[in-house]
Formats: sequence, structure tokens, C-alpha cells
Amino acid sequence: MEAFWKRIREDAISGEGISSSDALTVLRLPREKMWRLLDVTEPVRRHFKGDGIRLCSIVNAKSGLCSEDCSFCSQSRGSKAEIPKYPLIDEEEIVAAARDAKARGAREFSIVTSGMAMRNRKELVRVGNAVERIRDEVGLETCVSLGTLSAENVAYLLSRGLRSIHHNLETSRSFFPSMCTTHEYEEDVRAVREAKAAGAWVCCGGIFGIGETDEDRVELAMTLRELAVDSIPVNFLNPVPGTPLEGRRELTPFLCIKIIAMLRLCHPAREIIVCGGREVNLRDLQALMFAAGATGTMAGNYLTTSGRPAEEDVRMIRDLGLSLREL
Ligand code: SF4
Repeated sequence: MEAFWKRIREDAISGEGISSSDALTVLRLPREKMWRLLDVTEPVRRHFKGDGIRLCSIVNAKSGLCSEDCSFCSQSRGSKAEIPKYPLIDEEEIVAAARDAKARGAREFSIVTSGMAMRNRKELVRVGNAVERIRDEVGLETCVSLGTLSAENVAYLLSRGLRSIHHNLETSRSFFPSMCTTHEYEEDVRAVREAKAAGAWVCCGGIFGIGETDEDRVELAMTLRELAVDSIPVNFLNPVPGTPLEGRRELTPFLCIKIIAMLRLCHPAREIIVCGGREVNLRDLQALMFAAGATGTMAGNYLTTSGRPAEEDVRMIRDLGLSLREL
């Protein structure tokens, strides 16, 4: 076991990242090894990213009414979850939400819409206008999560001042068909490749606790490594009543810590942002996510579930001796 700890530390500090088999071992560590694991991951995070933590915030700019059937998602077409459903909100509402997020400590603001694509050019231009105003008037960098954007649409949004494109792969290629039957994994991979090729900062990760195995978790981590994504959002299932995964509880706080740690060690120099499902799954271990390797978190509410007040996250970061970081 000593050789294992030495190897994962060296492979991570070298910037290469650990192997698939070591990633699997990380996910299977017994609870009594938690502090030993954090003893490796915390210096790796600090080596590459220092003690600054990113706070992102989102607006759900178009809710529900999605054509896709992602099993975990309350906005999916088969979902009976009681969530707000509305078409794309006004430019003014998007900008106002960004102002509010900035006042609460966010350093990056993401405009998120349900569905696999923008409905038409008019919608895209509305988002483009908001992106430009959020950068120029509010002073926040912007990200969008608008489904699978074409290369042309990515180029348009970048020309309006957009910094990041978010598009999750959600899970491994092997498990994906058990989670979604309405589109192919390769469509998501293509969207990520196109965003990278267009020069966007690409934020791409997944959701854990939806029935995937440890092998699926490692497979996703390795696919993200192949794609050289810049930032990895990590979501933990919060099983919303009315979705196919209602009632599913596979994650423990320690497993969430191991998933974050595994991603940090596979992607030593990338951003790892802990997003939805953090409060309900990590519970009182939330603060340990930074020792496990997270370099950021999402503040405020998620798409259809509530987060805790952003002020509490800002306080947690300061209480830990960490600081808020600009991008
Ligand atoms: S995850 Fe996205 S694409 Fe899938 S059902 Fe939800 S909103 Fe639609």
C-alpha cells in the first residue's frame, strides 16, 4: 500500500494524472483511509491551484419541457416532478440574475437552458445580448449551457464576449444508454470537441449516484482526460420525486469525497467544481471537498433544486483559510 500512496502522489504532482487502475483503487478505499487520501489530494490541489476557490452561479433561463429522457433529470420529458416550466426568459431577467449573483460573491455566471439545442436564432441572439451585458455592465465572466451548440453558434457567442461553454457528458460511454435513450453519447462528445476547437474554455463533467459503477466513474474520468476539458463540474444525484430515479440513494459522504479525490488525481491541473447535490450528499463533510481536490463550487440555487445561501459558502471558504479567486 505504501507504494500505492507514493505512486499516486508522484503521478498527480507530475501533472500526468493517475492510471485507471489506481483511480479504481481510490474509489474502493475503506473509510479509515480517508485522511490518508486527503493527505495526498490537498497538496495536489494546492500545488496546481493554490488556495483560491472559484464560486460559480447559474440562472435556469429555460426550465422543463425538454425533449430528452435523462433518467436523473426533473426537466426530462418523462418527468412528473413538480418544477417550474417556462420558455427562455427575457434578456433583462438574465442580466438581473447575474447582478444578484455578483452581489452574493459569484465570480462566474452561467446561463443554462433545458433541452438539446436553442430553438432558433432569436433565442441565441437573446443569450448573446445578455452575455455581452453581463461582461460589460455587471463585470462577470460568462458561461452558457445551451445543449449541443453548432460550431457556428459557439463562434457567435464567443464573438459576443462569452468565456466558457458547459456541456456535460453526464456518465461513461458504457452506462450512458441506461441513462438516456433519446440521443447518442457521441453527440455530446462532438459538442465538447467543437467547443474546444472554437477556442472556448470548456466545462464538462457529469453526475454520480445514478446507478453507474466504479468502473463507469473511472471511464468518465478518462474520457474527460482524452478530451482535455478545462473544468469538471461534479454533480451528485439529488433524487427528485417524479423522476425515474426518485428514492435512489447510493452515495455516502465518503464516496462523494472519493469521487472528487479520484477526479483531482486523474486531472491534477484542472478545475473541479462541485455543483448540484452537494448539500444532501456530502452533508457535514462539505468543507472537506476542498481537501479532496475541489477548486470551486456552485453558490446559490441549482436548476430545479435549492442550494444553501451563497453567504454560507463564502463564510465556509473563509473559515477554512481559503479565499475567493477570480477566474
Ligand atoms: S439533462 Fe439536459 S438534456 Fe437531459 S433531460 Fe435534463 S435538460 Fe434535457
